Amino acid sequence: MAKVQLRKFPYPYKAALTIANDLDNMTLDDFLEVRKFLNTDLETSMGRGLSLEIGETFWCYSLLPYEVTYLKGLSAVRTDYADILLELIKAGYLDCFHAYGDFNRWENPENPVYFNRKLAEQAAEEFSRRGIKFDTFINHGDNYNIQNVAGQLLDNRGDIPDQDAYHNDITMDILGVRFYWAGDLTAAVGQERALNFGDRKYYTFRAEHLVKGIAKDIFGKSDRKREVYGNELLRKLHLRDGRVAMEFPRYCYDYRYIEIPPGRDILKIQLSDDILNRLIMNEGYMVIYTHFGQPKERETAGLFDPNLVERFRSLKNYGDKGDIWITTTSRMLRYAYETKFLNWEYDIKPNGEIHIRINGVGGPLDIKPTYQGLTFYVPEPEKTLVYVFNEKVENLRKNPDDGKGQSSVSIPIPSLEFPIDAIS
Ligand SMILES: [Zn+2]
Repeated sequence: MAKVQLRKFPYPYKAALTIANDLDNMTLDDFLEVRKFLNTDLETSMGRGLSLEIGETFWCYSLLPYEVTYLKGLSAVRTDYADILLELIKAGYLDCFHAYGDFNRWENPENPVYFNRKLAEQAAEEFSRRGIKFDTFINHGDNYNIQNVAGQLLDNRGDIPDQDAYHNDITMDILGVRFYWAGDLTAAVGQERALNFGDRKYYTFRAEHLVKGIAKDIFGKSDRKREVYGNELLRKLHLRDGRVAMEFPRYCYDYRYIEIPPGRDILKIQLSDDILNRLIMNEGYMVIYTHFGQPKERETAGLFDPNLVERFRSLKNYGDKGDIWITTTSRMLRYAYETKFLNWEYDIKPNGEIHIRINGVGGPLDIKPTYQGLTFYVPEPEKTLVYVFNEKVENLRKNPDDGKGQSSVSIPIPSLEFPIDAIS
């Protein structure tokens, strides 16, 4: 009997990784230089660029004038470089909405300014006019960012309809957000795979919070309990306005970084060969949690010092070898969602041909699937046809044995194209 199976990752990859950087504290110069280094092959202050498909977060607003935002301050006036950001969004490289903006009160405790719904309406109007959508939202900052959604143990009001900070209807219905990072961090290397004895940090953390939770119940502080989830990449999220999204965790390396935002030094460890090899062995998905702009001080002209540059070059090798699929967070989450909820079937014709039929994507989200990268293990790629509903996939790729003794076919996943003209 022929074995036809949906492969976990696009051929030939064994694991998938994205870097979901929070753009806090980054200046425009650093922001653009990092894009050049990560996304192009141009010469930069950190050496020749790597042409990686790594994305970035985005803000509409900030209370700090030097941070990178689409609008000036809290106004409706576009920044001088808003067109550059627009090009990067359209090209898929600015893929994550880092909430509406930076409202960290510790920056100016004398004069706190809070997010409100008008700011969401103002931003949505601008993006609707320009046809811009985001499917991925990453909560930002301290407890005063009441725009946040569904984060544990924080004052999050973005999804509560009677609050001034309510925006989730605009965010999901108009901006198109489907995936939320609501604050969940994990030290397990690779998600969407079974946990094992190598996941000591995770088990210790879970046990610790189980015990703390019991104590909190006893002392009447049940609302201060932290829930430690399993190891899924995507988990159904019920928001307080009745809408349903999916939430995903980010990889923090160590649970102490729930309290201290990790920056470039921790990124070197997160991207160490040891961690990357474990990711491959675990065949997991991973969204790395980092802050390129942390710490503010540095000794090198480029934001990444030579050791970090070396880590990125090594990462690039893992991608080139076909071991790790390195892409943007939005793309990876979409792909993971499509494979998780793909409706498909196959039959074997009397002449031996295998016909695979994709009948859409189910699950709780309303999304328009792309089917890009979907890979099916089949015994004879030459005798396999794939249909999306009744339409035959014409440019199907036929792949040899991937090292597991199985050949496959896949729907191509085109590379993103970086808008070099926009930044030069
Ligand atoms: Zn942030």
